[in-house]
Amino acid sequence: MLIDYHLHNHFSPDCEADTASLLKEELGHGVRHVCFTNHAEWFEKKEEVAGVFIPLEAATRFGEIQKELEAIRPQFPDMDIRFGAEVQYQKQYMEDLAKFIEATPFDFILGSVHIIDGILISGGRHAKEIFGVTSEETAYTHYFDDMLKLVEWGHISAVAHFDICKKFGHQFYGPFKPEKYKPQILKILETMKAKGIGIELNAGSLHKNCKELFPHPQILKWCLKVGIEDFTFGSDAHELKRAGTYLPEVLAIAKEVGIKTVSTYDQRKPTRHSIS
Ligand SMILES: [Zn+2]
Ligand SMILES: [Zn+2]
Repeated sequence: MLIDYHLHNHFSPDCEADTASLLKEELGHGVRHVCFTNHAEWFEKKEEVAGVFIPLEAATRFGEIQKELEAIRPQFPDMDIRFGAEVQYQKQYMEDLAKFIEATPFDFILGSVHIIDGILISGGRHAKEIFGVTSEETAYTHYFDDMLKLVEWGHISAVAHFDICKKFGHQFYGPFKPEKYKPQILKILETMKAKGIGIELNAGSLHKNCKELFPHPQILKWCLKVGIEDFTFGSDAHELKRAGTYLPEVLAIAKEVGIKTVSTYDQRKPTRHSIS
């Protein structure tokens, strides 16, 4: 079963694709379960900056997103279309983000770390400002430090692109070796297990940048070992042609590491579906 629970549309500042076209594209890839996870933070189009969280702006924009989804669902009777958001860890916004999430009828929330020591690392433009001046150990340790804070904060359904630090980091340090960070990663996964937080299998860089799944399959094996039960799949598409892509590859990796179910969400509650 294919799901795409990481998808942006024209309501994210870094995406221009319209919702109906994205849904048609997903259908073409055989995807019947979709969740729109637009960025809660605001930034200027095409600018690779960290973004700011403005409660009133977010409440207004996500109100419009919700309305649009309600209007569009009857056009796609074969699809389960869910309302979500992607929030990123930035210490100064977490209190406002918690209030925003709890006040909005979301089905699903992705939590992300996109920033290391103030530098945005999910895009390539600023990567050398951190990876070019810092050791791998320092950069990746700081990345996972913030991820621990994100999951301890806890107002999320699943962690997105768990090791996105390698997306451009690999150009400076070589392939990411999860074993080097095992104690730190296990602490994050155990916290996720305790709080009922799931993990996303993200196809965004399978065929570009580091050309690996987020997270590394070894991390998925550790997830199973600590007892994490909810797994979602996401294309992380920011443009029409990427919507719903590479999900069969994600499904194959999931099966290979021993994952048995994929989760969809309704009002923040997971339903687990067999993937066999
Ligand atoms: Zn992200
Ligand atoms: Zn995203």
